[in-house]
Amino acid sequence: MRVSFVIIFIISISTGLKAQHPSVFEGIRTDTSYILINDFYVNLVKYSFREPNVNFLVIHDDEDTGVKAAFEYIQYSGGSVIDSQYGGVRNYNFNYGSQFYQIDPNKIYTEMGIQNGLAKYGMVDSAVASELLNASKVILNHYSAGKPLYIFTLHNNTDGSFGIASYLKGYELESTADSLYINFQMDPDDLILVTEPDLFTWLKHENVNVVLQSKTAPDDGSLSIYAMQNQIPYINVEVQHSHQYEHLRLIEIAIKALKACCPSAFVKAAGSSE
Ligand SMILES: [Zn+2]
Repeated sequence: MRVSFVIIFIISISTGLKAQHPSVFEGIRTDTSYILINDFYVNLVKYSFREPNVNFLVIHDDEDTGVKAAFEYIQYSGGSVIDSQYGGVRNYNFNYGSQFYQIDPNKIYTEMGIQNGLAKYGMVDSAVASELLNASKVILNHYSAGKPLYIFTLHNNTDGSFGIASYLKGYELESTADSLYINFQMDPDDLILVTEPDLFTWLKHENVNVVLQSKTAPDDGSLSIYAMQNQIPYINVEVQHSHQYEHLRLIEIAIKALKACCPSAFVKAAGSSE
């Protein structure tokens, strides 16, 4: 009796979440990993189509424009995207013991990031911190069985808040950026962030908004900091919500940059990112 209740519960969660995500097309394959922290589920649904190509990662569940753009890309070019599904909100929210905890899932990749990320919203607890660090490992392991040869994330933001100007001198992310290139014809909310100087230079020549993360950027527990600490080339293509056409355009430019600057990341061998 108890077993059937659990099964029904899980099915109802996954059915409820599906509606927020793009409908699948014929031939697409799914492979799902799960994070479970007490009463809180994250479904990490990896959608793959045709041959391995680029592998995208979406970690915020309220950012679906990137998932739609990734679907469009893989439908024509093959590849995969991991879509994190946990109720269509930005933050992880859960109970542990008798306490409520909240954290941005882009703060869980380092121990320091988790401490500060939990403290921003309330309680900090060592057992919860350890669960969250483990959750980040589940995500990375689902993204790539071995050390990833690159990490390619997709994010969306809201009009006029975070954008390329956030990295300018005197603004809140100044210390995060080493170099910045702005195309003033583009929407300032649409940009690419990278950790490798070669990728920055290549993208600058493509005349797109691009940020090179500083080697001394503060450890905020984000995936870009984790990637830098572990010498993994990192690309984040981030656009304003609903800028799906621009997202796809920037994804295609970023893939050209990645294939030009890190060709070994696409050799089909054991440990590749697919
Ligand atoms: Zn995001």
